[in-house]
Amino acid sequence: MANMSLNKNPMPTQDPKVRAKNFLEVATGYSEQAALDEAARCLNCKNMPCVSGCPVNIHIPDFIEKVREGDFEEAYKIISKSSSLPAVCGRVCPQENQCEAKCVRGIKGEPVGIGRLERFVADWHNEHSSAVETAPEKNGHKVAVVGSGPAGLTCAGDLAKSGYEVTVFEALHTAGGVLVYGIPEFRLPKKIVAKEIETLKKLGVKIETNIIIGKTLTVDELFDMGFEAVFIGSGAGLPRFMGIDGENLKGVYSANEFLTRSNLMKAYEENSATPILRAEKVAVVGGEMLRWMLQERRFALAQKRFILYTVAPLKNFLQDRKRLSMLWRRALNSNFFAIL
Ligand SMILES: Cc1cc2nc3c(=O)[nH]c(=O)nc-3n(C[C@H](O)[C@H](O)[C@H](O)COP(=O)(O)OP(=O)(O)OC[C@H]3O[C@@H](n4cnc5c(N)ncnc54)[C@H](O)[C@@H]3O)c2cc1C
Ligand code: SF4
Repeated sequence: MANMSLNKNPMPTQDPKVRAKNFLEVATGYSEQAALDEAARCLNCKNMPCVSGCPVNIHIPDFIEKVREGDFEEAYKIISKSSSLPAVCGRVCPQENQCEAKCVRGIKGEPVGIGRLERFVADWHNEHSSAVETAPEKNGHKVAVVGSGPAGLTCAGDLAKSGYEVTVFEALHTAGGVLVYGIPEFRLPKKIVAKEIETLKKLGVKIETNIIIGKTLTVDELFDMGFEAVFIGSGAGLPRFMGIDGENLKGVYSANEFLTRSNLMKAYEENSATPILRAEKVAVVGGEMLRWMLQERRFALAQKRFILYTVAPLKNFLQDRKRLSMLWRRALNSNFFAIL
């Protein structure tokens, strides 16, 4: 019988007093019982509106049905037919605007917690499954992928599953793109990304780091090496500066540099080789950075005050209502000043 509760099973989280003092993931994930209970909220709709909201068209009611039956491994197989990064997407995909926005249970009450269930299934597989991923039979064609962000990894995974010999070339020393240098550890632990990349490697994907395509190797050289096609998933990682006096001064960071230092290079650790200047008073220019600065507050950068300079109205860059209210509360608690 369907569970007609109007509310999703809540996502368990670390106690706020504990999480304020560590960098571990805030959300701790569903228990088996919560997953079974949440799966029972799905009505297994024939027209599957949720699937049309998913950018990769995961067969959502089918995987949820398997969760409901307690067959978590089969649920994983259904998800991984359409997604190469289920543990990542279950955490950071904006489900509230995608699959869950289309869920019929959202008409009266909260939609089914599709993202939470996806995360549960992926984590269950990673912790319990003894299934060994094996590389499919090769079809004799070689493809190069430039960049190891979600675009490059997804392309590599899909091609590898179809038998292509894929090599991913990554400029940085670690694969993952924004997943490792942008999204903070407490939202997406690096070990989750590393595990997904390991799975791709088992499918036969080769990953070459510290290679800048265009400098270390040219695209022509890739073709000379026998690659028949090149997918460029280089992201949009370069900052756009404003061209004003002083922006090269010590202590002025672009958002990209700030995030890379804190997330990839672990600037929050004592004696980090790439530290972030610690200051009492910090000016933030541009709105979108606000949420990241506030979240990064937990990296103990010792700011007592934030000053935000932006030309855009607040609502333009703080669209995510749920996260906004959480961040806003934190901001108010930290003597935040906004100049708009
Ligand atoms: C702080 C932050 C938080 C975010 N949070 C979310 C979220 O919660 N949910 C969500 O859905 N989206 C989020 N996003 C957006 C999401 O991360 C991006 O849309 C996504 O990463 C884009 O993927 P990509 O593979 O195109 O590029 P990227 O992730 O930027 O990856 C590109 C990769 O290509 C490499 N590269 C670039 N040039 C070369 C070259 N010449 N040779 C070799 N390698 C090269 C780069 O080093 C990088 O690793 C966030 C973005 C940021 C910045
Ligand atoms: S729309 Fe909601 S209730 Fe219907 S199948 Fe999809 S997840 Fe289940």
